[in-house]
Amino acid sequence: MNQFEGKVALITGGSRGIGFSCARLFADQGAQVVICSRDEVTAQSAAAAIGDSCTGAACDVTDPDAVKLLLKNIAAEQGALHILVNNAGITEDGLLARMKNEQWERVIATNLKGAFHTCRAAAKLMLRQRYGRIINIGSIVGLRGQGGQCNYAAAKAGLIGFSKAYAREVSSRNITVNLVAPGFIETDMTSDMSDEMCTAAVRQIPLARIGTPEDVASVVAFLASDAADYITGAVIPVDGGLAM
Ligand code: NAP
Repeated sequence: MNQFEGKVALITGGSRGIGFSCARLFADQGAQVVICSRDEVTAQSAAAAIGDSCTGAACDVTDPDAVKLLLKNIAAEQGALHILVNNAGITEDGLLARMKNEQWERVIATNLKGAFHTCRAAAKLMLRQRYGRIINIGSIVGLRGQGGQCNYAAAKAGLIGFSKAYAREVSSRNITVNLVAPGFIETDMTSDMSDEMCTAAVRQIPLARIGTPEDVASVVAFLASDAADYITGAVIPVDGGLAM
C-alpha cells in the first residue's frame, strides 16, 4: 500500500520508540520522511536503518531557531510538508513538593512548547498548500493525571487544548490537527519500569498487555491518511482501554 506516495512527513523524535515506528510506517507506505532528534548521528543512523526515503537531521524542538531552520531546509529540499507528527517527548518525574524549576521547564519546553515551535514554523507551508495533517502525541497522563508527573501531565493536557485550538484556526485550509494519547508503550521511556511495575500496570489494562510502538504508529498513520479527512480536534487514546 503506497497511500503516502508524494507526501512529505516530518516526525520529531523519530530516532527511536514511537517516532521511529511512525517514520518506518510512513516510509513503507510511500512517504518521503524526515526525522529529527537532538543528536545528528543518532537521527541519521535511524534514518539509514529505514532506507533511502528517510533522512535524519539534528533539531532540538525546544529551540525555535533550530526548528525554523529545519522547516526552511525541508521547504528547500522537499518543497512541501504534508504530515507533521509532534512526537518528541521526555519525562523528568518527581513529586511536586521536590520538583526543581528545571524539571518543570524542560518537560514543558519539550512536550508542549516544541509542538508550538514546529506548528508555527510549518504554518506558512501548510497554509499555502491548503493541506496539512498534524498529529500530536499526547499521553493518557494528560487525561487522567499521574502522581510524580505534574510537569508531564500539564504538558500533555496543554497539548490537548493546543491541538483543539489550532484545529479550529486552520480547518478552513484543509489542515487537520489531532492528538493520539498512548498508554503504557514499550520504549526506552518506560524501560526503567521494574517487572513488578509492569505486572501491576498490565493488571489495570483491559486488553491485558503493554502496547507496542506499532500500536501507536498505525493510528498516527490512519489520522494522516485520506480515510481520516473528516476528523479534526480529536483525542484518540491508544492504551488498551486503560483510560476509559
Ligand atoms: P523515547 O523512546 O524516549 O523517544 C523519544 C524521542 O524524542 C527520541 O527520538 C529522542 O531523541 C527525541 N527527543 C527528546 N527530546 C527531544 C528534543 N528536545 N528535540 C528533538 N527530539 C527530542 O520515547 P517514546 O516512548 O517513543 O515517546 C514518544 C512520545 O510518546 C513522547 O511524546 C511521549 O511523551 C509519548 N508517550 C509515550 C508513552 C510510553 O509509554 N512510551 C506513553 C504515552 C505517551 P534524542 O534523545 O536523540 O533527542
